[in-house]
Amino acid sequence: MADIIQLLPDHVANQIAAGEVVQRPASVVKELLENAIDAESTLIKLIVKDAGKTLIQVIDDGKGMSVTDARLSFERHATSKIRSAEDLFSLHTKGFRGEALASIAAIAHVELKTKQEQDELGTQIEIEGSEVKSQEVVVTPKGTSISVKHLFFNIPARRNFLKSNNVELRHIIDEFHRVALAHPDIAFVMVHNGSESFNLPKSNYRQRVVNIFGGKTNEKLVPVEEETEVLKISGFVGKPEFARKTKNEQFFFVNNRFIKSAYLNHAISSAFEGLMKDGSYPSYFLNLIVDPKTIDINIHPTKTEIKFDDEHTLYAILRSSVKHSLGQFNIAPVLDFDRDKNLDTPYHYEGKRSSNPTIEVNRSFNPFQQEKSQSKSGGFSTSYKKEPAAQWESLYVGLESKGTQTHQEFSEVQFESEPENQSLFNENATIESSQRTYQLHNKYIISTIKSGMLIIDQHRAHQRVLYEGLLKHTTIKEAVSQQLLFPLELQFSSSEMELLKQLKEDLEHTGFVFSKFEDNRIEITGVPVNVPESEVSIILEQLISDVEQEVPDSNFSATDLLAKSLSKSLAIKAGQALTNMEQEHLVNSLFACKEPSVSPTNRTTFITMSVDDFDKKFM
Ligand code: ADP
Ligand code: MG
Repeated sequence: MADIIQLLPDHVANQIAAGEVVQRPASVVKELLENAIDAESTLIKLIVKDAGKTLIQVIDDGKGMSVTDARLSFERHATSKIRSAEDLFSLHTKGFRGEALASIAAIAHVELKTKQEQDELGTQIEIEGSEVKSQEVVVTPKGTSISVKHLFFNIPARRNFLKSNNVELRHIIDEFHRVALAHPDIAFVMVHNGSESFNLPKSNYRQRVVNIFGGKTNEKLVPVEEETEVLKISGFVGKPEFARKTKNEQFFFVNNRFIKSAYLNHAISSAFEGLMKDGSYPSYFLNLIVDPKTIDINIHPTKTEIKFDDEHTLYAILRSSVKHSLGQFNIAPVLDFDRDKNLDTPYHYEGKRSSNPTIEVNRSFNPFQQEKSQSKSGGFSTSYKKEPAAQWESLYVGLESKGTQTHQEFSEVQFESEPENQSLFNENATIESSQRTYQLHNKYIISTIKSGMLIIDQHRAHQRVLYEGLLKHTTIKEAVSQQLLFPLELQFSSSEMELLKQLKEDLEHTGFVFSKFEDNRIEITGVPVNVPESEVSIILEQLISDVEQEVPDSNFSATDLLAKSLSKSLAIKAGQALTNMEQEHLVNSLFACKEPSVSPTNRTTFITMSVDDFDKKFM
């Protein structure tokens, strides 16, 4: 039989390789940014159109390429970064496979312009699907500019597989963040559809984090520094109380390369143990420097996974240095009284006789020992709780005196920091006459109906009520807002601002009034009637995180998402005691809804048990 094995032509091999290297526009962004860094640039500009589907361009002021190198750079396995296999063990560059440019050129229209410092003129090359269309001498500044258009033009399946612009842009921004965080000494600019999304000057690490994630990030960073024989750690972790609902602010860099490691992530989570609420994640921005000989970054084509020789030691060092930093920080608030607003005397405290204040510092307090009875800031006995009632209070603004009164009592009790304040509250409830509802474990509302019994999940029910109300406001566009005494200024990162811009109009329809909406700041002068001022920033943060997590499809509705997110944030929680009036009001409002039986996220809001059901049980 004749021989049947053939060598694949280069352009086919390149296309196959491209499948591994280029999954989406963000992969191109990553490769081009990394090449610019390897070229020792000091300023790197990323220009993107339509989330990279139309254009991705990276312009740098690095060392550029000679005519020959410019042409060679598009060949597979063409790299200036390693010469022998040994070099693999002492890598100091991002790239080394010599695959990226060849792969990208196989599946897009690429234009390269490059010039080295000492040369008069530069080189321009155009390639479409691995085919060189032109090569010319051009006038161009020192450095390199590569533009990539019509990505996946010759692989329609891939092109169709791309997600919405929102999703693709988010991936691009993620890559941009990772690269920019790893290199604060390089200035970065990102422009999307003609407007500047990021402008990051050369700076120190803290400033870089703040420039990316917004001014409010500054106060939440706790430095982590550690140097041992095998490992150097530097960077920041977020204070536990600023923990986020998403993992968007978790960054590990090993030798300035972003990596993902569930194992090391676990080391950090365990250092935060006992300090975090369930469902929230610590922020961290950590750089690990290790001997390149002790790691293997070659195991994954996109190089975000890594193998360490001695993971266990790294784990232990990382965990203990994060713990140490958190421990140091936990002592700080004791000395820094100015910061705690909750220590201000409340007005309704006036009538009380004062007693000598005592502050006991528990010197042996260990923040990492989980102590259920103590609040998070534990360690000294005057820790006041935030008023959980505040939010609930204003939800029933429409309701008259009785309910509100109870709440004042409630917050007062709260203020004396008695953990067992619920008994008082329930006593109150039982005094009320003609009781038709009953609250079980501060979680379910039980009411009798003709056929038997109705059991309502208070949190879900309230979510449904708020959700329909919000939808109504946003669609008929006549929300009621309450004017704030002083405008509230909030800071957001550029990517958060992008999202907020898209939601601005809908937010206004729910009752938000914005007086400024620019750069990284928004100023709020009015909020929906049922939104307490103190909750605004939490609500917006929750909203951003909900939008970030949503993978928008074609029938994605910003209004709906907003209503869902706000109703989730604002709804009374399980554990919240309700007066009888509040219980009844909730039951009535629920059954006035269009779809009372499910929450906005399709969970059951109530169940019924008939007398028959009971009869059967007693047989
Ligand atoms: P790798 O980065 O793995 O070497 P690439 O395909 O990404 O492979 O790039 C091939 C070569 O092209 C690089 O080794 C480098 O010499 C050159 N090159 C690519 N981008 C740039 C740039 N922005 N500035 C200077 N040289 C570059
Ligand atoms: Mg490269």
